[in-house]
Order: sequence, then structure tokens, then C-alpha cells
Amino acid sequence: MGDIGLYYGEELLEYAFPNGHKFNKERVKSFWEAVQILGLLERREIRLLKPVLASAEILELFHTKEYIEFVRRMSEIGSGLLDYGDTPAFKGVFEAASYVVGSVVDAVDRVMLGEVEHCFIPVAGLHHARRGRASGFCVFNDIGVAINYAKKKYNLKRILYVDIDAHHGDGVFYEFYDDPLVWVADIHEDGRYLYPGTGFREETGSPKAPNTKLNIPLPPGSTDREFVEAFKEVEEFVIKAEPELILFQCGADGLEGDPITHLRYTYRAHRHAAEVLHGIAHKLCKGRIVATGGGGYNENNTAAAWSAVLMSFLGPSWDMPTSPGYML
Ligand SMILES: [Zn+2]
Repeated sequence: MGDIGLYYGEELLEYAFPNGHKFNKERVKSFWEAVQILGLLERREIRLLKPVLASAEILELFHTKEYIEFVRRMSEIGSGLLDYGDTPAFKGVFEAASYVVGSVVDAVDRVMLGEVEHCFIPVAGLHHARRGRASGFCVFNDIGVAINYAKKKYNLKRILYVDIDAHHGDGVFYEFYDDPLVWVADIHEDGRYLYPGTGFREETGSPKAPNTKLNIPLPPGSTDREFVEAFKEVEEFVIKAEPELILFQCGADGLEGDPITHLRYTYRAHRHAAEVLHGIAHKLCKGRIVATGGGGYNENNTAAAWSAVLMSFLGPSWDMPTSPGYML
């Protein structure tokens, strides 16, 4: 087993909305506490990495110049909305969002150069942002930028994105719907019941990119059982994709007790998905996985699900001396 890069620093914590917003700092702080309780920092495989700021040039790999300028202006003003209601501006939002993107791009470099095999970036996976607009708590789409960066810098021909967040990853799914080099598998709560209301079975890629996209909507109330069953189909899809690089968005908002979704997974769903992808990554692409935290608005759930992902990357090592109560 090789090294795992874990991004942590104040700069990433700054990506949180003020005034009691659900996307707050607590969801990341609780994860950090769990990492310490579980003794993960003592594991020699885990390397702490500092957040990296993305330049405008990097942001432009996915976003329009006009939109980047808009976010910069709103960040200076420090109030108002970046979209139609969910995503408020605050002072410094431009820098905070740029650190998220820069860290994911840095992670792509590190796994491509073989410096580490896997990376985890807790605040990233902002999968709703579009090229020219913010959406659903997402300002810049770090995944979208990372995909275009990996294509440009490393000339990759087969990039895989797997998204298990409760919400459909529309900002990635539709911006690459036409792209035959980008394979996307997305398990989420059925769009008829949850934001953003998209992600249906019949969407399998445009005629230019047939069968490179997979949506699996699950009904409200779905548990680990339905998730694990559905993930078999993702596994087949992933093997067919023969990826050179895997990007994994492991939003924790599908766990029971999340205040804004209706799924009922436990952290075992995340452990399962991470174990399967980890195994495939070692077989097919030198272990290259860049995992991002994504959503999750219950702080016990982000702590449990995200540490489960990290621990899956360590291999079978579940006999930890102490576990937080929510992971028993
Ligand atoms: Zn979500």
C-alpha cells in the first residue's frame, strides 16, 4: 500500500457559508476530530498536505472569465447571492473557493506523478457549479477543473468520475455529457424528490459520447442494502471504463440523519464504495484516486463517512483501538 495525501489547513475551512448556513465549518472540524480519535495521523501511510491556491488560469480551464470576475467582485463586496438562493457571497469566498480547486489540482499532480497513490480533500467535490454560474453551495467546480487539467497536462484519454453524494452531480454530469473521454457514474436520491431534480436513467451520454454516463437514482429511504446492490452496476461500469485516473466524490449527505435529504445509508456504504474503487484503482490505474468530501450536513455523518473512505484506502485495518460512537 502506498501513501495517501490528506489535505488539511485553515484555508480549506474558510470555504463555509456564514449565518447558520448548513455548509458550515463544523462538518469539517468533526471529520478532523475523528481522524485524530481513530489514530489515522499516526499511520505512516497518511501524509498531511497543505491546501494550494488555484490561479485564474487554472480556474479558466473550466469556468468562464466573466463568471470568475463576478465571483471576485462579489467576494470583495462580501454580501448578496452568487446564485438564485442557496449560495451566498461572503468576504473572501473567491480565495476560499480557489483553495478548494487548487488543492484538487495539486492532488491530481501528486497521484499522476506517483508521489502518493490516493488523496482526500475534505471540502472539495463542489459538483453543482456550472461553467458560468454558482449553484447549490458550489462556487467553483473543483472536479470540472481537475478533469480538464488532467486531460491537458497528462493527455489522459479515460478519466472516471464516481459520485455517491445524495444529490446528482449535475455540474459535472452535464458539462461533460458530450465528452467521450470522461466517464461518469452517479448514485443519488431520485431527482423527483431532491435538488437539483436531475439525473435520470435514460441519460447515458450524448451521441458523441454514448454509454459513457450512468445515473442510478435511488428512492427516498434507501439503505446500505440498496446502495450496495446498486454499486454492483457501478463496479461493472468502472471496469468497462478502464480509467487512467479516478475522481471520487463521497458526499456524506446520504447517511441517515442528514437534515436535507431522505436517504438512510450508514458510513458502511462509503466504506464499501471506497473499498471497491480502491481495489479497481490498484488493478487498473496504479491506485490513482483523488477523493473529495462533497456534501453532508450532519457533522457526525461527515466524520464517519469521510474517515471510512480514508480507512478503506489504508486497506483492511478496521480494528482501531477506539472509535467514535457514531462508527460502532
Ligand atoms: Zn449533496
